[in-house]
Amino acid sequence: MAKIIAVANQKGGVGKTTTAVNLAASLAAAEKKTILLDMDPQANACSGLGIDKTEVILTVYDVLLGESNIAEVMLPTELKYLSVIPSNTNLIGAEIELIGRPEREKQLKYALETIRDEFDYIIVDCPPSLGLLTVNSLSAADSVLVPLQCEFYAMEGLGQLMQTIRIVQQDLNPKLQLGGILLTMFDGRNNLCHQVSDEIRTHFGKKVFNSIVPRNVRLSEAPSYGQPALMYDIASRGAQAYIELAKEIVTGGAI
Ligand code: ADP
Ligand code: MG
Repeated sequence: MAKIIAVANQKGGVGKTTTAVNLAASLAAAEKKTILLDMDPQANACSGLGIDKTEVILTVYDVLLGESNIAEVMLPTELKYLSVIPSNTNLIGAEIELIGRPEREKQLKYALETIRDEFDYIIVDCPPSLGLLTVNSLSAADSVLVPLQCEFYAMEGLGQLMQTIRIVQQDLNPKLQLGGILLTMFDGRNNLCHQVSDEIRTHFGKKVFNSIVPRNVRLSEAPSYGQPALMYDIASRGAQAYIELAKEIVTGGAI
C-alpha cells in the first residue's frame, strides 16, 4: 500500500515543489511506483514535469468535487514508474465549492484510497497556505515532509504549521506523523546557513533528514526544460541530493 507523503509549509519559495518533483522522480528512478499529486492551483509541479497546464482537461479539482475518479485524471510521464495527478487554476475554486459538503476535509483521502494499493509512494505538493487544500492533503497523508529554507526566518511560521498538524491529528487523521524536516537551498559558504541548520537540528533532533539539499542552479533550471533534475543533469549536486533523500526515505530514515 502506498505511503502518502505531503510536502507542506505555508511559506512560499522554500522548495516544496522542487522537493516534491525531484523526490517523486528519484523514487520512480528506484523503480518505486510513484504518483506526484499537484495540490497547488499554480500547478508548478506539473510544469516541472513538462505538462502544459493549459492543455490539461481533468485535474485533482474534478476528483475533489467527486466529478471524476483518480484513474481518469492520472497522466503518465517520461519516467516509467512516475504518474502525475495534475492541477490547474480551477483548484482555487475548490476551497469555496467544498464548503458545506459533508467531510469536505477528507475528499482527497477517500479518492486516494481507491488506488493506494497499486502504488508504493504518493507525493503531494501542497500550496503555500494552511487552507482546505493543505488540510485535505494532511488528512490523506501518512506523514508530512517540511522543507525549510536555510535562512534567518526559516523557523518563523513553523509553530503555526505544527499546530495545524496537531489539529489534523486530533480531528481528522490520528496516524499522521511529522515525517521529517528537510533543509533546502543550503549554502555551505554562508555562516548563517550553518547556524540555522544547527538550530533546527537542536530543536527537531532525529526528525531532520541527514540529506541536505544544496543551493544548486541545476535545480532551478530543470523545470524550464520540463524535466526533474535527474533527467536534466543527473551528476548535479541537486539531483544527487534528492536521490540521497529518496534512499533515506526508502530505508526508513526520518519518515
Ligand atoms: P515552493 O514550492 O515552496 O514555493 P519552489 O520549489 O517553487 O518553492 O522553489 C522556489 C524557487 O527556488 C524556484 O524558482 C526554484 O527553482 C528555486 N529553488 C528551489 N530549491 C532550490 C535549490 N536547492 N537551489 C536553487 N534553487 C532552488
Ligand atoms: Mg510550490
